[in-house]
Amino acid sequence: AKERGRDNCVIYSAEMEHQVNTQLIIQNDLRDAIERHELELYYQPIVDEHGILSGAEALLRWRHPQYGFISPADFIPVAERFGLIDNLTRWVLKDVCEFVQQNAERELPKISINISARQFNDPKFVESLLVQIKGRQLTPRAFELELTEHLFLTDLSLIKARFTELQQAGFTIAIDDFGTGYSSLSYLQHLPLSRLKIDAAFVRNIGKGEKGKTLVKAIIEMAHAMKLDVVAEGVETEEQHTYLKSQQCDWFQGYMWSKPLPAAEFARLLPRAGEV
Ligand code: C2E
Ligand code: CA
Ligand code: CA
Ligand code: CA
Repeated sequence: AKERGRDNCVIYSAEMEHQVNTQLIIQNDLRDAIERHELELYYQPIVDEHGILSGAEALLRWRHPQYGFISPADFIPVAERFGLIDNLTRWVLKDVCEFVQQNAERELPKISINISARQFNDPKFVESLLVQIKGRQLTPRAFELELTEHLFLTDLSLIKARFTELQQAGFTIAIDDFGTGYSSLSYLQHLPLSRLKIDAAFVRNIGKGEKGKTLVKAIIEMAHAMKLDVVAEGVETEEQHTYLKSQQCDWFQGYMWSKPLPAAEFARLLPRAGEV
């Protein structure tokens, strides 16, 4: 059994094994997960209305040596709370950059990366992204950053400055989980955005009555009126797809086309440059 360590790490002692607390495991082990090569990046295709691959979202996977697969929905919030998110994002960006470089002979779509709202408080945030990307002779134009509405709990003027910095550097920005953030919509008119990602919860309601459909229709209409593209998340059924298409939804992501794929598998979907 492990000694009680710097992080109050008692979770491995035999007598406590049965009451292992997920939060504690995560908090203790996530620090080392990067060095131990336990993290992996998956890529989920984003397709256009013809089903043609046009982008991909990078999604973290953590294979814990003892506890198996831990969902990012569980460990990302812990990483945010304990100051580990900057390291994680840096690792994600590094891994995406390596993927892009390793597949330079292929037609690469824009890769979307999830950014935590917390990271916006760091005045060096944008610069640190640029150092990584330009250090590898890549361009921010190859990337989209996904941010949730949690962001708008902080000062709008700070966020606006940050968004402008990102946009001027060449990144495009998408609002993730759109419609779930309990925030005012006024930010839509003040920020340089490219896309809204309609949360899967709305998509799921398409097959469940007229009100579900009406809400999705209204979101798409509003987005288009604001000159924003719409990505539908979590599209699983033909019914959802057909309805979204009938409302001119621009992009689609979901199990109907593909689950998130390991990098090598995703790369095989990409045509070699010149083949298209
Ligand atoms: P998200 O950004 O909303 O990502 C979409 C989630 O929906 C992913 O879950 C994806 O696997 C899942 N999904 C996609 N299509 C379907 C579908 O058709 N049906 C269903 N049921 N699910 C679908 P995942 O990979 O478990 O990630 C969960 C959340 O963890 C993400 O939600 C995101 O908030 C966070 N996350 C994942 N990777 C990162 C990362 O690198 N950085 C940060 N900050 N957060 C991340
Ligand atoms: Ca996302
Ligand atoms: Ca989302
Ligand atoms: Ca989500």
